[in-house]
Order: sequence, then C-alpha cells, then structure tokens
Amino acid sequence: MTEIVKQHLIDPGICIRCNTCEETCPVKAITHDSRNYVVKAEVCNDCRACVPPCPTGAIDNWFPIAPGKPWSIEEQFTWDELPAPAAVPVATAIAEPEDVARLTSEATAGQGGPVAAPWSAEKPAVNLYNEKGPITATVAGNFRLTGDKASADIRHIVLDFGGVHFPLLEGQNIGIVPPGTDAQGRPHHVRLYSVASPRDGERPGYHNCALTVKRVTEDHEKKPVKGVCSNYLCDLKKGDKVQVIGPFGSNFLMPNHAGSSLMMICTGTGSAPMRAMTERRRRRIDLKEGGELMLFFGARAPDELPYFGPLMKLPKEFIDINFAFSRVPGQPKQYVQDRIRERHEDVWRQINDENCYIYLCGLKGMEKGVDEAFRDVCRQHGGDWDALLPQLREKSRYHVETY
Ligand SMILES: Cc1cc2nc3c(=O)[nH]c(=O)nc-3n(C[C@H](O)[C@H](O)[C@H](O)COP(=O)(O)OP(=O)(O)OC[C@H]3O[C@@H](n4cnc5c(N)ncnc54)[C@H](O)[C@@H]3O)c2cc1C
Ligand code: SF4
Ligand code: SF4
Repeated sequence: MTEIVKQHLIDPGICIRCNTCEETCPVKAITHDSRNYVVKAEVCNDCRACVPPCPTGAIDNWFPIAPGKPWSIEEQFTWDELPAPAAVPVATAIAEPEDVARLTSEATAGQGGPVAAPWSAEKPAVNLYNEKGPITATVAGNFRLTGDKASADIRHIVLDFGGVHFPLLEGQNIGIVPPGTDAQGRPHHVRLYSVASPRDGERPGYHNCALTVKRVTEDHEKKPVKGVCSNYLCDLKKGDKVQVIGPFGSNFLMPNHAGSSLMMICTGTGSAPMRAMTERRRRRIDLKEGGELMLFFGARAPDELPYFGPLMKLPKEFIDINFAFSRVPGQPKQYVQDRIRERHEDVWRQINDENCYIYLCGLKGMEKGVDEAFRDVCRQHGGDWDALLPQLREKSRYHVETY
C-alpha cells in the first residue's frame, strides 16, 4: 500500500471552542489561541481519548498528509475551515479504483449524476485503502434484522478495525473484496456498502462501523441466483476477517450546521445511510440544535423492515416517521411515494426550506416514483418540480443513491 500518514486536525468551522478536548488530552497535544483549537502533530499519539467527549465532532478529523510534512499549529491557527481534500499532497493520494468509479456513477445516475455535498458537511477522507493494500476488519457481530418469516434476510454486520482509525462519515461507502475468484478465475470485483453507523462508530470511540446487508438470492428479474458478496458477508461469523477498501463517497453527506433538516426516503438496505444520519442526530439530541428529521421508509411488511424496532422507540418530536408497507394482508399496497403525497403539506414546506436536505437511497428505480410524487406535491401547491429540481441540486439539497 502507498504509505499513508494521517494528521489529527480540528475542524474550525464546527468547533465551538468549549475547551473539552484540551482538558481531556492526556499528553497535552491540544492548544488554542483566540481563534482556533489546534492539535500539535508531534505530540498527539493518536490515542483518541478526546473524540468521545467532544460535543460537536469537530475533533474527529484525520487527514492524509505527505510523510514528515504535517501542518504546523501556526498554520492551523490561521484556518477558518479545514483545507479542502484537494490540498492533500498528490503523492499520498490513492486513485479511486475503476470499479468504484463505475458503481458510484451508476448509483447516482437516477437524478442526473452526483450532487455536491451540503456546504456544512464534514470533509470526508476518501481512497485511503485500495485493493492492493486493503484494511483488515474483524467481524464483531452479525445480527438478522428481518423477521424469521420475512422473505428478505437483511443483516446488521459490525466490523471492527482493530484500533486503526478508518475515518467514515454518514453517507459514505466502504468496499468489500470477497475472497476467491469468479468462474473465469479472476479475483472477484469489489462491492460497495453504505456505512450504517455514525461517524464516531457503532460503539463510539472504538474503531468500528456497521453495514446493513441484504442477502441476494434472486436477481433483479427475480431469477434465483446466489449473490457473491452479500452471501459472503451474511454468512460471516464473529471473529472472521474481512478485506475492506475505501472509504468512498464525497457527495451523499449530511449537513452539520445547527437548524438543518433532513428528509430521508428509503427502501430496504437504503436505510443504511439514513440510520447513520439519524443516529448521528440522536447522539447530539441534548445539544438542541434544531432542525427536523422526516423519514419515508418502504418495505413489504413491518418484519421486513430493517431497524423497525429501534425506529419505533425514537421520540415523535425527534423524527417524523412514515412507513409504507406494500404486502400487508388485508391492507392496500403502499409505497413511499404514496406517503409523500399524503404528507404533501409538510413535504412542500420542507422542499421550500433552504435548510432541508433530501436523501433518497434504495433499489434502482425507486427514484422515478419519488420524482413523480414530488412533481404532484409541487403541482398541488402551485409549484413546478421540473424548475425546482435543478435548483435543489445546485444547492446540494437533493441526493440520490440507488443500486
Ligand atoms: C453506492 C452503493 C451502495 C450500496 N449499499 C448497499 C448496502 O448498504 N447494502 C446492501 O445490501 N447492498 C448495497 N449495495 C449493493 C451491493 O454493492 C451489491 O451489489 C449487492 O450486495 C449484491 O452483491 P452480490 O455480490 O451479492 O451479488 P452479485 O453476485 O454481484 O450479483 C448477483 C445477481 O444479483 C443481482 N443483484 C445485485 N444486487 C442486487 C440487489 N441489491 N437486489 C437484487 N438483485 C441484485 C445482480 O444484477 C446479479 O444478477 C450498494 C451498491 C452501491 C453501488
Ligand atoms: S472539544 Fe470539540 S468543540 Fe470543544 S474545543 Fe475541542 S474540538 Fe472544539
Ligand atoms: S488523540 Fe489523544 S493525544 Fe491526540 S489530541 Fe486526542 S487525546 Fe490528545
């Protein structure tokens, strides 16, 4: 693997200068001036003791740098925001694997390509590990999320990076390289999976993350087939080792500014990034930052819906949940687009709220039905979806990832 050295940095755009990290750091690596809190690269030993107590997440930045060339504290004192990822010296950057570029482009094609991340999104680390030098994770848990009788086997798989910091943001993906070779004897190509845990991990302070994986047993035309990577992942046991590459994705990221709202629309495993974003907001609930969460979540039936139980426990004032079930005996079929139409007043309000960011994730094709529903909502309120959508994209307010 290309040598990667990471430097611990504090995001001055998010930090509220509360001094918690300076008090926490056991080796006094953190200092401040009247403008910024900064980390002394030569003192910080990467112990992460400062990460869980930081109330904003501003502390949790680990940027790749050229070996021996960290940013000095004098440079950090002048920053209003973290340097753009493009400022990372080229020599240390790993090119995005071709497979990943293709998969990402297909996943965002549903609404005409990727849309830039919200202005207040955390700067993501990308392409730290590739197929020539993957990071090894250990399976810390593998739990079935869907009911015993459900047709889909969807699993919550927790990966532990063994003390190695693998920086991930809500909405990013990781690549899994399944072992073995295909029918032609070539190594299997990489598959992408959305990160389902928030940036501080499934268990805060431990270097881990969760995935939401559906076992593929039939193809998109419903013909029986055993998906290579999903079956590999779903069969993993606690303690098994997995080769991971990434992280990937710089666009499908959540806003960080106080007062920002999220409208999340998903089906099946499309719930993974929504769970990450919701959990991030839930862990910060005591900060009373404002903003609303609205979720439209489609599945065949309640026991086919990943995270149904935990979602039901969230307070109504924290998240406005709208389930749509398409196969409940004796009930009419409902899809996410039906629920969006039913909630047209609030949906219209959120579309017009500059602080609301909309995310769609799930099976390819779902974006068409949602697009039609938004068109109807706009029509009902005298708006024009076709004119609005380019504006939403321009403002980084409409993000689609379907596969
Ligand atoms: C950006 C991105 C994020 C993703 N996030 C997730 C995630 O969070 N959770 C998750 O489970 N998957 C996710 N996927 C899909 C995942 O990458 C794999 O495509 C999926 O697990 C199937 O891989 P496989 O190796 O099991 O099947 P393969 O062996 O690659 O394919 C077997 C057959 O199944 C078909 N097929 C592939 N995927 C599906 C599917 N989802 N449903 C039905 N048929 C399918 C293929 O067309 C093929 O005919 C994501 C994909 C992308 C591009
Ligand atoms: S604990 Fe977090 S918010 Fe507080 S000063 Fe440190 S980095 Fe900033
Ligand atoms: S990672 Fe550890 S050494 Fe570095 S700043 Fe945080 S607490 Fe201090």
